[in-house]
Amino acid sequence: MIELPEAIVIARQMDATLKGKRIVSGDRGNSPHKFAFSSGTSEDYTAIFAGQTVGGTTSHGMSILTEIGADYTLVLGCGGERILFHTDERSLPKKHQLFLQFEDGAYLTVTISGWGNTLLLPRAEAGRHQHVQQDRMTPLDDAFTWDYFCQLFEPPAQDSKASLKYFLISEPGLWGLGNGCLQDILFRARVHPRRRAADITDRERQALYRAIRETLQQMVALGGRESECDLYGNRGGYVRILDSKTTGKPCPECGTPIEKSQYLGGAVYFCPACQVL
Ligand SMILES: [Zn+2]
Repeated sequence: MIELPEAIVIARQMDATLKGKRIVSGDRGNSPHKFAFSSGTSEDYTAIFAGQTVGGTTSHGMSILTEIGADYTLVLGCGGERILFHTDERSLPKKHQLFLQFEDGAYLTVTISGWGNTLLLPRAEAGRHQHVQQDRMTPLDDAFTWDYFCQLFEPPAQDSKASLKYFLISEPGLWGLGNGCLQDILFRARVHPRRRAADITDRERQALYRAIRETLQQMVALGGRESECDLYGNRGGYVRILDSKTTGKPCPECGTPIEKSQYLGGAVYFCPACQVL
């Protein structure tokens, strides 16, 4: 799943690679399905894409926004999108849910596993889409300061019973952060995902703030997480400390076996000794 680090990495690559390319044809791919969220029929997409020039690409939260001509924005991200650039047709995937052919013989494909976005929205609407929410701050923004982070713990932003997992990815939630990036952040801060956010100490809150910033910055610097691919099909260089592969293996800090449990609609991984409940 694309989260904040991958959205930043892929958006930078798309900006550098696709800007200025002229689209010969584009559509919703050869295998549209209902979990490939779109904003119109394949015919609509064909009509909008034809002859347009690709503009700049930016990211916000988990979303990737690409200007298509003067009036439209292509919104990808937030889900299981594999976004790939192809210099020629030899590397095209068999199935895709978005397909762009450029005048210079290159292609862009998006293949979705699970669910994902391939939205083609009028430019003025894109920033307001529920998966974009351009007005929300992300944890890598300069304005995401220690003081701002502390304010999130004040009522009413803070439901006094909320666990750290709920607090960080749901309500109030950090925009762009999902379950995939969360596990290493909590491990680095030495806090358990089920701890009540209202109960953590000042010291733990400081460790959590540092872990959020440093972990996400490191993920971006290394080209995203190893579980995800970039625009050129290369895996990211950030190897997660806690994930399905490390369950049952010794904690890198203390040697206690890493545990996994289902919690709030997804797996959480933790060291029961370093992250005491
Ligand atoms: Zn440990």
